[in-house]
Amino acid sequence: MLAAMKVYLSVDIEGVTGITAWEEARKEHPDYPPFRDRMAAEARAACEGALRAGATELLVKDAHGTGRNLRACDLPAPARLIRGWSGHPLCMLQELDATFDAICLVGWHGAASAGRNPLAHTLSSRNVQEIRLDGVRASEFRLHALAAAELGVPVVFVSGDEGLCAEVAAFASGTRTVATGVGFGASTRSEHPDLVRAAIAEGVAAAIGSDRGACLVTAPKGPVVEVVYKDQALAYRKGFYPGAELVAPNCVRFAAASMFEVMRFLNFVT
Ligand SMILES: [Zn+2]
Repeated sequence: MLAAMKVYLSVDIEGVTGITAWEEARKEHPDYPPFRDRMAAEARAACEGALRAGATELLVKDAHGTGRNLRACDLPAPARLIRGWSGHPLCMLQELDATFDAICLVGWHGAASAGRNPLAHTLSSRNVQEIRLDGVRASEFRLHALAAAELGVPVVFVSGDEGLCAEVAAFASGTRTVATGVGFGASTRSEHPDLVRAAIAEGVAAAIGSDRGACLVTAPKGPVVEVVYKDQALAYRKGFYPGAELVAPNCVRFAAASMFEVMRFLNFVT
């Protein structure tokens, strides 16, 4: 009997193939359905790759918007699907724990204030101008990868825009990436969806079958997080989070004891 292998997959939409405008990410809008379908197809490809590499348990988090984009029937058995949001600080990795062997991020995107994706943002596209961790711009990928590192679980695979893939390569060189396309201003140039889907399945399988430990990043001791808001009035209000400090009219700083505390702070202030 094969040893159990648990893989966590978190799926967003702003980094799936071809997505270009916010209307395409919003389920009330008529432009949304084809991109929901892309999100589902790329999630399914990642699950298939993981199963091919010997995964015995798959937990998939629908990590976009309402958290209710994917349907359980979009995914191959035995994948289990988390829909909606619990409010847990691990956010796009809710229910992750130290029993997991690997994390794969599908359809993720670059950070707020980064280029190369018209939909680049960090946690809140409405409120957040930029999030910095120890003085460096932090994407959703970086925040979640470091929080997962505290549990000893590596991010082994990421698909998304070229900007994100470049960040992953520089930050976690062991982690495999598949670029779905690249943005120029408000436009994008995407790869062909069939090629992306195949590359995701192949990339996830290779990542899970390789040295997963080489993908584990080191969580900072005593991380300092700063949120720069688009609206200074919101910054003023959020500056009253316990232990936080308003360090500029639009910037709140919080010195945390762990990445878990960083994520809890962000859960309340973004
Ligand atoms: Zn999203």
